Amino acid sequence: MVSNTVKNAIRISFAVSVVSFLIKFTGYLVTGSNAVLSDMAESVVHLLAVGFSMYGVYLSMKPPDEEHPYGHERIEFLAVGAEGSVIIIAGVTIIYQSIRHMVLGLQPENLEEGIMVVAAAGLVNLALGTYLMYTGKSSKNNIIIGNARHTLTDVWTSGGVILTLVLIRWTNFTLLDSLVAIAVAFYIMYEGYNLVRFAYRGIMDERDEDQDRRIREVLENRLPSEIRSWHGLRHRTAGRTTWVELHVLFDKDIRLEEAHDVGTELERRIMTSVEGDAVVTLHLEPEQTHEDAHEKLKGTYENNAIDKMM
Ligand SMILES: [Zn+2]
Ligand SMILES: [Zn+2]
Ligand SMILES: [Zn+2]
Repeated sequence: MVSNTVKNAIRISFAVSVVSFLIKFTGYLVTGSNAVLSDMAESVVHLLAVGFSMYGVYLSMKPPDEEHPYGHERIEFLAVGAEGSVIIIAGVTIIYQSIRHMVLGLQPENLEEGIMVVAAAGLVNLALGTYLMYTGKSSKNNIIIGNARHTLTDVWTSGGVILTLVLIRWTNFTLLDSLVAIAVAFYIMYEGYNLVRFAYRGIMDERDEDQDRRIREVLENRLPSEIRSWHGLRHRTAGRTTWVELHVLFDKDIRLEEAHDVGTELERRIMTSVEGDAVVTLHLEPEQTHEDAHEKLKGTYENNAIDKMM
């Protein structure tokens, strides 16, 4: 039920974004303004983002299967990284175009019509962004909330472009068109940089500090008393799933059945503390002899970086 709401929101977002892109494209054809072009590029960026999130939502909703036992959520990093790269290229293109216009002394025209058209696109995006923010918050879906934020920042860019056209109309300072376009281009590239950074962190399994705090809170304050100590905690998050693994030490004479019960209780506590879903894998060890037993593994790794990690 929730997933249908999410899917619908993304479909609506995509359709409405196409409309606002076409409106802005018309504005660009009418005015030849670089500022309007950069605003249009923002819409293209948004369309790409929605396209990738549709793909991401579709894939991450697919349950794990025989070929992909860890699920399909990590594809998000590739999609977001590709999107970020495209955005950076778009920014570079706008800067090139603006400098070219300044050098050749080209000027925007039909400013009144341009202002009306961009304003129309801005209103469409304002309505869309408000709707997405409402849907995203009520369904607690980060993809939709991200989408909503993006749509609402598009409204700000449109506002800035309208202001630019109004100022040019009043002051006839036509250079402002390319200057604003370059400023928007830098903003677009900054957005692209953030997406690439997100993708890089995800692919490198960078530790999620919030999840780390939640897991350690359980281990430090709510560890079942039968567990003497723990070590080797590792976790990584992709999409809505966090994979957690750690070693827990019991007295060597505890019965396997009891150790398993206690271990499962610890798993449950971690699962309910982590945001989203968690898959917890425990490695049970006897307190007195686990180091001797692990001696057998020393030097078995070809990559000694892994040896140091264990
Ligand atoms: Zn261990
Ligand atoms: Zn079990
Ligand atoms: Zn062990």
